[in-house]
Amino acid sequence: MKPAPFIHHRPRTIEEAVRILAEVAPDDGRVLAGGQSLVPIMAFRMARPPHLVDINEIEGLDRLVVQDDRLHIGACVRHAAFGKGAIEGPTGDFLAKVMRKIAHHPIRTRGTFCGSLAHADPASEWCAVAAVLDAVLVARSHEGTREIRARDFFEAVMTTALRADEILVEAQLPLLPAGTRTGFCEFSRRAGDFAIAMVLVAWRIENDCIVEARFGIGGAEAFPRRLTDVEACLNGARPEQSTWDEAAEMAAAALDPLEDAVTSGDYRRDLVRSLSRQAFEQACA
Ligand SMILES: Cc1cc2nc3c(=O)[nH]c(=O)nc-3n(C[C@H](O)[C@H](O)[C@H](O)COP(=O)(O)OP(=O)(O)OC[C@H]3O[C@@H](n4cnc5c(N)ncnc54)[C@H](O)[C@@H]3O)c2cc1C
Repeated sequence: MKPAPFIHHRPRTIEEAVRILAEVAPDDGRVLAGGQSLVPIMAFRMARPPHLVDINEIEGLDRLVVQDDRLHIGACVRHAAFGKGAIEGPTGDFLAKVMRKIAHHPIRTRGTFCGSLAHADPASEWCAVAAVLDAVLVARSHEGTREIRARDFFEAVMTTALRADEILVEAQLPLLPAGTRTGFCEFSRRAGDFAIAMVLVAWRIENDCIVEARFGIGGAEAFPRRLTDVEACLNGARPEQSTWDEAAEMAAAALDPLEDAVTSGDYRRDLVRSLSRQAFEQACA
């Protein structure tokens, strides 16, 4: 199918973009980034925005830099920008590992990191990364700029704290310290499909014990989150099978799973238990 008619705005500056968005947002005008979620939805006529504010020609929104111990990811940075070696250190390794699981190559060359966050599909890998790394999200409107913590950003399935007249201009990820080991495991029915559940873990080992553990889940609940009880269980523990078993049980028990016609809550709970063990082993390898 083809989308319903719309007016395509192509602002050259962020000031122009937020001014236009302020005018068209009350009529369901939307931001267009990579178009890899919005355009299919429009083609199915599940959305009929009469105005699209295309941000792709705004200079500087493709900025991907490390500054002040944070990775700054501009609104037009594509998934594919996070390939192996693109960003140094454990944060870069972690993002490269995650990126390989997002959709297929053509989608990764157009879809954006910030677009994924704004879209807030429960199964989005970048949303889970933002939650587990405590991202800071920078929103800009005609009224000014505000920062939103990831834990306050995701509110429900495909619902965020972003207002209709705001553009997510940048996501900032705190850098993982040197020596951090990471694990990322997800399950989807076919390669490239949206995941039914995913687990993300990061920690350092000091004196044979786990320290600074981060543990998060995505795809299994309405929106991704860190599980701080699981992190407390991991911190100070030895990296061994009994620790994995205890922490994986805790994660499964804490889940408030999504259910749909083909995937029960119990199935997602089992997946989280099993993916947790795999992610722990990966982070130790
Ligand atoms: C076949 C297929 C498989 C896919 N598989 C996966 C997958 O496995 N994992 C995954 O995470 N994603 C997957 N995706 C989605 C893909 O990653 C999208 O790129 C992503 O969800 C949205 O990014 P985008 O830049 O394309 O946003 P768009 O499609 O342009 O926009 C999506 C929504 O976010 C809003 N928006 C976008 N950018 C901003 C911004 N900067 N500020 C405010 N609002 C904004 C738009 O208005 C729109 O409502 C898949 C898509 C397809 C078609």
